[in-house]
Amino acid sequence: MKDRKISSELTLLPVYNRIEIEFVRGAGCYLYDAQGRRYLDGLAGIAVNLLGYRHPRLVETARQAAGEIYHLSNLFEIAQQEQLAEQLSSLSFGTAAFFCNSGAEANEAAIKFARRYGHDRGGEKNRILSFENSFHGRTLGALTATGQPRYQRGFGPLPAGFDYLPFNDFQALEAELKDDVCALFMEVVQGEGGVVPVKPEFFRRVRELCTERDVLLVLDEVQTGIGRTGEYFAYQNYGVEPDLICLAKGLGGGFPIGCLLVRQSLRETLGFSDHASTFGGNPFACKLALTVLETLNKEKLLENVRERGEQLTRGLEELAARYEFVDRPRGIGLMQALPLASDMEAGKIMRSLIKRGLILGVAGGNCLRFVPPLIITAEEIDEMLT
Ligand code: PLP
Repeated sequence: MKDRKISSELTLLPVYNRIEIEFVRGAGCYLYDAQGRRYLDGLAGIAVNLLGYRHPRLVETARQAAGEIYHLSNLFEIAQQEQLAEQLSSLSFGTAAFFCNSGAEANEAAIKFARRYGHDRGGEKNRILSFENSFHGRTLGALTATGQPRYQRGFGPLPAGFDYLPFNDFQALEAELKDDVCALFMEVVQGEGGVVPVKPEFFRRVRELCTERDVLLVLDEVQTGIGRTGEYFAYQNYGVEPDLICLAKGLGGGFPIGCLLVRQSLRETLGFSDHASTFGGNPFACKLALTVLETLNKEKLLENVRERGEQLTRGLEELAARYEFVDRPRGIGLMQALPLASDMEAGKIMRSLIKRGLILGVAGGNCLRFVPPLIITAEEIDEMLT
């Protein structure tokens, strides 16, 4: 660990509370600091590095792609973008894609899409609903969709027409999901909010009501998408299909790429010049994303997520049974949280675990958060639990 406070105080906006470790190397599920200390990474750059560090397939693709054209403007055809869109479509439910660079940007695209959808149905259909404790990003629209006032404080006036429902609450859903709503935004598993999965019967009712009242069901799968829950998309664990899906985080295996997927029948909702992103879907990012998808398939990583996820759940359940200060774990696949008693500050525990060589995150509700690379082995899960 190194004291970098002085330089970062001068050069960077103080929006992050950085831990004073500088990682200089990564391999598989491990990171190494400048002193050569090894850390098991249970956080994966906050659910981003699906294939861990220096995965040979990803390194090879990056090397090749760097020698080719890595940016082209969207004024021209980009074959890799079309290939990636086709892949994502075949893995989901027949979708059309818009590519961008981050989760917030994917949500922004979905917000505009939803507003235009409502506009085309008569003007008054413009309310957007999301859930309390949700997280959809930090740009103004995504921040407004985020149902946590602490992120919004001091940034008003926020865009109008957003309302929040308690999560997994049938009564509120029935009362609020009216014809003036154009879209309902939902995380299948609320991530930042504390790793809280949607209840299957609630998800089914959401789908029914959205269809009945002509409301777009937008799933924010920025964190849950691309294998994290043991299916390509988390909704596939429930057998309920959305209309739109927002993706980012793991899609590029560590390289920035975001995506909005929409049901084919809705494709024409946005037309020429209605939306754009300069860097969105550049050949470099798309090639890496294609390699991520190919690797998930070739290395049978969805199976690994399910097996390692069950192993992690069993281990965390044992901890919960043994220690009074931990509660039962929550989550699906390799997205789990261990809630701690209120007198145990999750942030402090996280820092002390890092000193002992284990990187975890924190999530809302005083939880330790586990989102390791999807390549994690049984031995590494055991090491994490120990
Ligand atoms: N949506 C969800 C569910 C997220 O977890 C996040 C980030 O944590 C975002 C959106 C925002 O993504 P980004 O930081 O790439 O803008």
